[in-house]
Amino acid sequence: MAKKEEILAAAKEVAGKAVEAAKEAATEAVKEIKAKAEKIAEQPETKEAVEAVKEAAKKVTEAAKVAGKVTAEAKVITPKMAKIPEGPLEKKWTNYKDHQKLVNPANKRKLDVIVVGTGLAGASAAASLAEMGFNVLNFCIQDSPRRAHSIAAQGGINAAKNYQNDGDSVYRLFYDTIKGGDYRAREANVYRLAEVSNNIIDQCVAQGVPFAREYGGLLDNRSFGGAQVSRTFYAKGQTGQQLLLGAYSALSRQIGKGKVKMYTRYEMLDIVMIKDEQGEPRARGIIARNLVTGRIERFFAHAVVIGSGGYGNTFFLSTNAMASNGSAAMQMYRHGAYFANPCYAQIHPTCIPKHGDFQSKLTLMSESLRNDGRIWVPKKLEDAKKLQAGQIKGRDIPEEDRDYYLERRYPAFGNLVPRDVASRAAKERCDAGYGVNNTGLAVFLDFSDAIKRLGKDVVAQKYGNLFQMYEKIVDENPYENPMMIFPAIHYTMGGIWVDYELQTSVKGLFCIGEANFSDHGANRLGASALMQGLADGYFVLPYTIQNYLADQIGVPRMSTDRPEFAEAEKAVQAKIEKLMAIQGKESVDTIHKRLGLVMWDFVGMGRTAESLKEAIKKIDEIKKDFWTNVYIPGKADSLNNELEKALRLADFIEIGRLMAIDALNREESCGGHFREEYQTEEGEALRQDDKFSYVACWKYQGEDKEPELIKEPLDYEFTERKTRNYKS
Ligand SMILES: Cc1cc2nc3c(=O)[nH]c(=O)nc-3n(C[C@H](O)[C@H](O)[C@H](O)COP(=O)(O)OP(=O)(O)OC[C@H]3O[C@@H](n4cnc5c(N)ncnc54)[C@H](O)[C@@H]3O)c2cc1C
Repeated sequence: MAKKEEILAAAKEVAGKAVEAAKEAATEAVKEIKAKAEKIAEQPETKEAVEAVKEAAKKVTEAAKVAGKVTAEAKVITPKMAKIPEGPLEKKWTNYKDHQKLVNPANKRKLDVIVVGTGLAGASAAASLAEMGFNVLNFCIQDSPRRAHSIAAQGGINAAKNYQNDGDSVYRLFYDTIKGGDYRAREANVYRLAEVSNNIIDQCVAQGVPFAREYGGLLDNRSFGGAQVSRTFYAKGQTGQQLLLGAYSALSRQIGKGKVKMYTRYEMLDIVMIKDEQGEPRARGIIARNLVTGRIERFFAHAVVIGSGGYGNTFFLSTNAMASNGSAAMQMYRHGAYFANPCYAQIHPTCIPKHGDFQSKLTLMSESLRNDGRIWVPKKLEDAKKLQAGQIKGRDIPEEDRDYYLERRYPAFGNLVPRDVASRAAKERCDAGYGVNNTGLAVFLDFSDAIKRLGKDVVAQKYGNLFQMYEKIVDENPYENPMMIFPAIHYTMGGIWVDYELQTSVKGLFCIGEANFSDHGANRLGASALMQGLADGYFVLPYTIQNYLADQIGVPRMSTDRPEFAEAEKAVQAKIEKLMAIQGKESVDTIHKRLGLVMWDFVGMGRTAESLKEAIKKIDEIKKDFWTNVYIPGKADSLNNELEKALRLADFIEIGRLMAIDALNREESCGGHFREEYQTEEGEALRQDDKFSYVACWKYQGEDKEPELIKEPLDYEFTERKTRNYKS
């Protein structure tokens, strides 16, 4: 019911705006005609009259065109357009698979698919598509597929196996994910994700992924934020690495068989669009730069799949790998793929605090540490001051003077509240002056209770490598003194809009993993990104892409000598030449740091209309500075790290702006998006479901033009939207 009403309301709103725009344009034109006619009436020389009428007629035609365009594009994305299958929630995916088009084995051999990315999403997709018989061209920036950012994932991967017999189920995983995302994700996709989560574990175990096991040999689980069950499978603090090795072994097998052609150290710089017989543009290839030689090369495929990861590095300092970037997303966006919910960025509560201005990376302490670690700050301001001045250490503060603020505020979930809630609570304590560290921007994560309860050996077995990492970076032993942590940018829930088939709004262009707008709504729960990336790559895309490719079997391989490829390559060359020619005074990192500061201060954990408007102004200045004053040493036709970074920064600047625009539009707080104007008396996020229960899809309108907003209303047919409650 809510569905129809909301769609109608949204459609009405957009249509209303279109009509207004059309009216405005027409009124302008009529006014002009009237003015000219009056002039003619005063001086009726024939020639002038004819010219005036002609000119007026032209204006009317233009106004009509504008009106037509606005009306045509003023659309909402309906469930049908998002290709959400009919039927009950738990039957949708099965129904889809039963009725989708298939490609037979002989035809699969005739079809080529480009997969950009070798993270968990890209590698699993490339391996699966090749295993099925398609020819795959797989690209990554790193020197080995195994070095994709996914390798950094520490804590674990969720699945609804219910091995612990603690009440878990597919529905409960679905529900926790929808609720965790603050009711801003698509129900059908999230249910499918929960449904295939169990297959992922089976697949990975079959590949030999060494998940942690209990004494009896069964797979072990731990808990992550936003859940009251233990459903997280893990391999010490290296889950991403072990999963990636599994996907990599599947990929290597296909490389060995000649079904995957691997291009390491290649960076896609554009997507090539070719119009079909009906004049509709389709993704038919990419332009990529060989990062070792600097050579620009062209590649054709019948479909293009992008699994390029998230854009958290827009903030400069983040937990992401240094090469993580948003350029592939921007290339898709510029070709007409909608950028959905760009403002949804996740701030992770347990990162090692920033320690100086020359730092280029932040380090995550896995969320798994919140299973046994307790988070606190001093109760007394004078203790906080002493800690900040380095006069005492955390262990010197007696139990009764410690404020376990998460346990105090959220008794039901305690230290395992979702990340957005834990991050904001840490900020609140630090803003109030209770923060520790010399900056006052940190809280404690303390294992002294766990060590007493379980023994140091058990704690070391569970988290040893993380403790070691902490000690190496901070030079303090976390077994003896509580760790210090502070929130940092970690993940981007926003990304390229995809339909149920993971196809973008551009035909033949698919997007998977963190790069798409994902199933996590406004906040991702821990251990759900690995689940989503592998679900997309192993179990969803290999089915859905066939529905597209089945219609492409008659399309012959196209030559990369076609003008579309030549033009795309020329544009890439021109952009590189423009950048190299600037030879200004500021390094890429200097400008990126400035962008990062603006993002953190104005588009960070707390946002206001004022701060966002200010951010847009400042980002525009940074953009101007970048394009006039950046300095890139070296040459374009050889290995050039600075050039690579500059190309990525050019896009980060655009993404930063888009994030601010989206955050400004979303006049509510939900999940990781906290608009300070919209909060409850207790400082919790205040959603405005009547106005903002939609996916905000931004459509590119051209360089330096404001993007257009298209809405996908979110329908909650199978869950009741509630205010998130982690207290009771
Ligand atoms: C420190 C850390 C710990 C984490 N821990 C967990 C965890 O425990 N559990 C969990 O669920 N999630 C975790 N996450 C999140 C999770 O790791 C990521 O969301 C996920 O790995 C992203 O996978 P992906 O395949 O989408 O992208 P990535 O792994 O980022 O891979 C992107 C790929 O795209 C390639 N690429 C990008 N652009 C281009 C281009 N233009 N041309 C060619 N190639 C390109 C890259 O080379 C790379 O191969 C963690 C994240 C971080 C930062």
